[in-house]
Amino acid sequence: MRLTLHRPNHTEPWGFAAVRDDTVTVALPERVVQTWDCAGRWLGGTRGGWQWRRSYDGKLAGAPTGQPLLGCAGQAQALGVHQESLNDARQLHQDLSIGALRLEPDETAGRATLLSVLERAIHWNLQQAQLDAIAFTRLYRGGIAVLPEDLRRALYLQLSEGCAWNRCQYCTLYADLPHRSPTISQLRQQVESVIAWHGASMGLRRSLFLGDADILGEGPSYLLAQFQLLAEFFALPAPAKPQGTTSAGLYPLDAADGFATARSILACKPAELEALQAHGLRRLYIGVETGHPPLHHAMHRRDPLTALPGATKLCHDAGLQVALTVIVGLGGQHYAGGHLRDTTELLEQLNLRRGDQVSLSPLVIEDGSPYAQAAQQRNEIGFLPDELAREVRRFHDTLSQALGPGPRVAPYQIGMSPW
Ligand code: SF4
Repeated sequence: MRLTLHRPNHTEPWGFAAVRDDTVTVALPERVVQTWDCAGRWLGGTRGGWQWRRSYDGKLAGAPTGQPLLGCAGQAQALGVHQESLNDARQLHQDLSIGALRLEPDETAGRATLLSVLERAIHWNLQQAQLDAIAFTRLYRGGIAVLPEDLRRALYLQLSEGCAWNRCQYCTLYADLPHRSPTISQLRQQVESVIAWHGASMGLRRSLFLGDADILGEGPSYLLAQFQLLAEFFALPAPAKPQGTTSAGLYPLDAADGFATARSILACKPAELEALQAHGLRRLYIGVETGHPPLHHAMHRRDPLTALPGATKLCHDAGLQVALTVIVGLGGQHYAGGHLRDTTELLEQLNLRRGDQVSLSPLVIEDGSPYAQAAQQRNEIGFLPDELAREVRRFHDTLSQALGPGPRVAPYQIGMSPW
């Protein structure tokens, strides 16, 4: 519902409010825009030529308006921008309450929702919001290490914690998190806590994203048992998305996606993958990282490259999509040519199709990490930021041309969280 905000005795609109089932967005003078979810949590906005997104773990990403959001703002800047959103919510709520602003149409339900979301937003002052973000990260052991770029509106569930391998040279995602799989009863507790934390904002969640590194690590029977538990809470896939819950009290979601490894997929029978697909599993995200054998070996990857074609075919035959990650810049300039050539050749064998994805993740090197130390030992010449951006474009153009119009080939940024 779109409402117009008017100052008394002014015919020109002063601002606008879009009141939806899951969010409220207001557009105010001087190109200020603010958005809150229905629980009143500030999701982001634009001001002074910049756009901001706040994720549920309290991180703030920003960029000049119209440019891709990159990186996270510093703490002081994040608090300042968040405070401005609170000021806007307070002022708007006050002006609407005392009649200094009127709504058109003066529609009771829209007005009530707008005021109630603004009231909730005011409740999330900086201290409350910080505690709320801490509570969010505590829903998951070790937090959410990685979430695909296009699934920030997914509800994350940790069906398996950490990574059983944990030895790929470039990866520090789960370095401090011992691997384990929660019992069904622990998973039930997690789902209940996650739903309770989201509260009124559950309507904003579009799908499930299942982590951590390999949801098939305990075998397909265990994953099926986990899906049977999830079916007690979620309608998956929901034929239509009603507001709130279904008549059976389930939260309707489009689908479930998750991380898996080629090795675990290959250990599944076709019927087991089909059963998972029937329970709402849509797409498996598999780390390929490189198709260049010497680089694959140097990075201490566990699954042989030869596992990927068979794993992809099993997924396709079961009606599942695949999303494959490639790390651009891996191994530095020495490996760049072989990395692009062999990765392209490997992915060409997979008959990727519509719904499949290839995600290009620029290499991120953490100071003091095993990768940083090994790179120093092998005198690796890395890529400067603008060179890496060019390398991402080179991979994008080459792979897009080689793989044709079926799969989506797109850059991928790690380090972002749900919003
Ligand atoms: S890249 Fe994947 S398999 Fe390798 S250590 Fe990281 S999470 Fe584990």
